[in-house]
Amino acid sequence: MRKPPATAQSLIADLGLQDALQQDLIESAFAFKAPRHFIAQIQTADAEDPLLKQILPIQAENHSPEGYLTDPVGDHLKNPQPALIHKYHGRVLLIASPKCDIHCRYCFRRHFPYESHANQRHWQKALATISNDRTLHEVILSGGDPMSLSENALLKLCQQIETIEQITTLRVHTRTPVVAPDKAAQNQWLAWTRETRLNVVMVVHSNHGNELSKETGELFSRYRQAGVTLLNQSVLLKGVNDSIEILEELSHKLFAQGILPYYLHQLDKVSGASHFEVEDRLALNLHEQLRQRLPGYLVPKLVREIAGEPYKTPLIP
Ligand SMILES: *Cc1c(COP(=O)(O)O)cnc(C)c1O
Ligand code: SF4
Repeated sequence: MRKPPATAQSLIADLGLQDALQQDLIESAFAFKAPRHFIAQIQTADAEDPLLKQILPIQAENHSPEGYLTDPVGDHLKNPQPALIHKYHGRVLLIASPKCDIHCRYCFRRHFPYESHANQRHWQKALATISNDRTLHEVILSGGDPMSLSENALLKLCQQIETIEQITTLRVHTRTPVVAPDKAAQNQWLAWTRETRLNVVMVVHSNHGNELSKETGELFSRYRQAGVTLLNQSVLLKGVNDSIEILEELSHKLFAQGILPYYLHQLDKVSGASHFEVEDRLALNLHEQLRQRLPGYLVPKLVREIAGEPYKTPLIP
């Protein structure tokens, strides 16, 4: 198979979009990165392609209106020790990987220093802290992207979590199965999920029906057979999925692949992402239309993360 284009320049050349987009590209410290499968789902010769927009570093990123911050959700503050983020009752988030397979331009973590968090030494200390906290019942592996770890590293971490008595649920937050299903296969890990006493929940991240392919469908079917509960979170993104038809189709396509919509997030105001912002009024309007068109179980919760709040806050009119 062909290697994925290594630069945004070569990608737009491959897509026949040099003339349309060349002038708009920028160099960014949060570099261009996208795996082959995701790129294969992009339409050629369409500068407005909703997948392309999620990965191209463009000039609008240099624009940081007031209110856009490097840590909009307060993660740096709620970081009691390296690798651990404890914001909500009963569940704790473990930074399980320093990297992602894709760099989503709107990511609220684009300025978070992961490399200094995700390593064995920090994990061992984090696991000790979790073991000593009887109020916890759920560990969330996040990142970076935990499925970008080597299979051995992921398995070992999960097996250690399994030994902590009060933990009943292991959750994995990951975009890898959607963007690079070939990398997320993880046979040994799937064998482990079949056997474990833990409830295993995977929250994937897909923003547009075009991201879901035959390959992702086959992978999710294997996860389900291994007893994994599948949920999806999306970010509402201007020019990508801020339309009722797209959101409605996404819910249907997710369900066809065995996944229930969980959250639809209002954008976190991270510097460099302001061009993706959808106004609250439009967000609420889209959500209302989803309610009118879909069964309740296919309507995601529309939320915003507010630093300091004890849960993801629902948007209300
Ligand atoms: C989003 C998040 C969670 C999970 O929240 P749920 O509402 O349970 O999905 C947990 N910890 C942190 C730090 C989070 O940002
Ligand atoms: S996969 Fe998730 S964590 Fe990684 S860049 Fe995309 S949105 Fe951010």
